[in-house]
Amino acid sequence: MPGGSKISEVFAQTADPHGWLSGYLRARARLASFMTEFHCDPACTRPGCKREDMQVPATIIDLLGVALHRRQSVSETYRRHFLLGLLADGRDNGIRLVLPRLRKPCPFLENDLCSIYPVRPLPCALFPEYPASRSDMEARAENRVFREYLCLQHPISLSPERAQVLAELRGRWEREVLVSGFYLFGHGRCHLDCRNLMEQILPRPRSAVAADIEAQSASQRVPPRSALEHFFREHLARHQPFVGVEEKIRQLDDPEEQARFFKLLQDDRLVKKLRQAGEDKALVFRFFDGQLKARRRSLLPEECKFY
Ligand code: SF4
Repeated sequence: MPGGSKISEVFAQTADPHGWLSGYLRARARLASFMTEFHCDPACTRPGCKREDMQVPATIIDLLGVALHRRQSVSETYRRHFLLGLLADGRDNGIRLVLPRLRKPCPFLENDLCSIYPVRPLPCALFPEYPASRSDMEARAENRVFREYLCLQHPISLSPERAQVLAELRGRWEREVLVSGFYLFGHGRCHLDCRNLMEQILPRPRSAVAADIEAQSASQRVPPRSALEHFFREHLARHQPFVGVEEKIRQLDDPEEQARFFKLLQDDRLVKKLRQAGEDKALVFRFFDGQLKARRRSLLPEECKFY
């Protein structure tokens, strides 16, 4: 399988961070196109690239890849094209995954084409085939957010080999997410529980949206993502661990710091430890009494804890 070698075999030469990154990105790009039969519909209006309701999470590798591709510094690339986002992570319960994301509409869409295609974030490369391989396409196609997606209107053909490649890519993405979270926040995954922030986040006088949310039961109350992110930037981003993110990214302008990150990415023991913390012992931040406080807790649904 092209590009399917083990991460440590492909990248033995971390003494040359530029060469390491180029090799890693080439392997990722080869996997992204290997044995795929998927092509975007020419009539597609690129809703996934343009619309705010489709957020694209990004890892440190994505950030470094874009900086390399556009010959920009890492810090400048981050400042212009990325920001810290609060991602739903498959949840609708008000708990968000904190991770860099692309600004929207995506700044890399030029004349309806992706100008960073070889180094595009893995969630872009995995869509829509990975959801198809997971058989949750019907649910997505029915979701209001996805109605404009022409690729979701028809079945997507996937060979067993392609499904295996997608699983490999997904595994790489999970590793990148864990190690990026560790690098930026000191933890593999960093969650924010925002369910207690409703009163502070929702605009006053109460809008129709707020009234709708008010009508929901307390356990279901979730502020709109845009309002939540605005609150996050205004009030929470100045607290640790988020306040240090821009400085950590600025340090990545130094190739030696990049090499340090690449070593972390190849550290199987670290990745195993971060993975083990996973959903069962997740680090979850809550904001109350003007402070951001974290504790480890399970994010598994109650019914899953006993099996
Ligand atoms: S990186 Fe490329 S594929 Fe991904 S959202 Fe931006 S333009 Fe679209």
